[in-house]
Amino acid sequence: MTTVAILGATGSIGSQTIEVVRAEPERFRITALAAWSSIDSLASLAREFKPEVVAIGNPGLADQLSGEVPEGTEVLIGAEGYEELATRAEVVVNGIVGFAGLGVTLAALSSGRRLALANKESLIAAGPLVQPLRSTPGAELIPVDSEHCAIHQCLRSGDHEGQDRYLHQLVLTASGGPFRGWGSDELQEVTIEEALAHPTWAMGPKITVDSSTLMNKGLEVIEAHELFGVDYKKIEVVVHPESIVHSMATFTDGATIAQLSEPDMRLPIAYALAYPERVDTSFGGINWGTSKSLHFEPPDRNNFPCLDLAYSAGETGDTAPAWMNGANEAAVDAFLKGRISWPEIASSIESALNQYDGAVAESVEAVVRADLRGRECVETYLSGGAR
Ligand code: MG
Repeated sequence: MTTVAILGATGSIGSQTIEVVRAEPERFRITALAAWSSIDSLASLAREFKPEVVAIGNPGLADQLSGEVPEGTEVLIGAEGYEELATRAEVVVNGIVGFAGLGVTLAALSSGRRLALANKESLIAAGPLVQPLRSTPGAELIPVDSEHCAIHQCLRSGDHEGQDRYLHQLVLTASGGPFRGWGSDELQEVTIEEALAHPTWAMGPKITVDSSTLMNKGLEVIEAHELFGVDYKKIEVVVHPESIVHSMATFTDGATIAQLSEPDMRLPIAYALAYPERVDTSFGGINWGTSKSLHFEPPDRNNFPCLDLAYSAGETGDTAPAWMNGANEAAVDAFLKGRISWPEIASSIESALNQYDGAVAESVEAVVRADLRGRECVETYLSGGAR
């Protein structure tokens, strides 16, 4: 029996983690649950799973939550409560949205837990701080991102010791999002509703907009670099509209290994929970009895400049990815509020990156500051300063 903590329990990743646990009750037991403010859903989950501890991000809701969870359940509060909760299970699922997930990532690894990481922003923005914690005894970082889960599996097919020697490149697949093939004129007119309509994956709004700009893929390039220690020149992106091949690894002898399944996030979640074993429930297994076509094409780097902005920030390193990630979160927020057009997401991020100050990623404070500065640059752009 593996004990599981879920942070972001009522969000998209959290809800799918709950489904995995419900499907494999003999294998997993939820001991800790946290949500920011969805108190009714959190209390209902607490009554179902009877965890030892729950946490609510919004301090104003703590008293109400205490009255709605089973007797004896400990209630923790706020960011500190989240970090404490992230030490209370063997596997910690970080399903928090955005940069706010950093504290949980650091807490889980430094306390020697397995971190099932869906919060890619924390690794991307704070790679230099996260990396040393991976060598904490017992600590393990398993990605809950379909592409990186695929690569994790592909790399297992090689000789582990010889992995670096024989790896030629990682190939990240991208669905291309809802605007694949659109020209620049059409992209000027994109609406919020269109950006939120992903062709193959059902996800939260922030990541869905990131998928429409290819920033999600750019962030995943940085994530792959951090997770697998592979140079940016060896990370390729290919558009694959069907989202069946989740990513690939090509070795020096020309062999490409791929992982295929229907798009279903429960597979990467279950993989991260059960690794190195596998669960007995199929999530997204392909029916090979029907005809299928799989397509691959290079990404349109001109109309989707966020991809190369991310490569550039990743190669610059230090606090540049944090700066860019902050800028992106601010830009996506502004787009979802109707303050900027879709193409301006990329131009505001580019404007922010042009002002990057080169600060070293020496502390959490330095990373937080870079994140804030990135956001401020986008605000300046919005107020007309650099528009
Ligand atoms: Mg992904």
